[in-house]
Amino acid sequence: MTRTLFKLFTITFILIMLQISTVQASHPYNPERHIPSIHSSTDGESFCVDVKNTSRVTYTTAMNTLTTVLYNTDDGWDELNNGKISFVGHSSGQNCSDMTSTLLSIYKFRYYVLDNPEDFSGGTSAVIDCSTNCVKRYGPTSVSGHTHYDYGHAYLKHTAISTTTTHTINHETGHLLGLIDGDGTCTPTSIMHSVAYGCTTNPAWPTTADINSVIAESNKS
Ligand SMILES: [Zn+2]
Ligand SMILES: [Zn+2]
Repeated sequence: MTRTLFKLFTITFILIMLQISTVQASHPYNPERHIPSIHSSTDGESFCVDVKNTSRVTYTTAMNTLTTVLYNTDDGWDELNNGKISFVGHSSGQNCSDMTSTLLSIYKFRYYVLDNPEDFSGGTSAVIDCSTNCVKRYGPTSVSGHTHYDYGHAYLKHTAISTTTTHTINHETGHLLGLIDGDGTCTPTSIMHSVAYGCTTNPAWPTTADINSVIAESNKS
């Protein structure tokens, strides 16, 4: 009897360990919703920035901060998977909302810097239901189990720019690359498993689990 129990325990233990190692392979919450350029080696992850709804940071500061974070190939999202993920910032100094529709259509990753995200509509009624930062995706198309979006907005509070909060910028960008928030589970460590979702740290940069998830997703088609 004891021996049978021991075997059962051993098998259960092995099964649990197997499950843990599967979970640790990648960020577990990937809903396959993303900007489709992640599948392409030729289409970059083109981004623009918009500071028209904040008086706290300038366009130049915002663009410099974003490029500092998004062009970091050592720690960040850039140049993953042999360049399938490759961020390219708008270089002519225009806010996203000042562009012609033709020009704007190039930029699928759009970063809006706001005094407060709730104030985007002018403060009379909130158009986004998050209190600090969030993303919105537009133009969904279902493609063999993925949902591709024409473009996405990441709303950043001005402090994320003025203090170069790499966690926030990388977290919101993670959403546009296909990752979703944590559900209180903190393993594996993930840029998506923030303090706001019950975990103890806000990683500054995507973790190995996050990178693995995005690479796996970009290899699907
Ligand atoms: Zn896809
Ligand atoms: Zn989030």
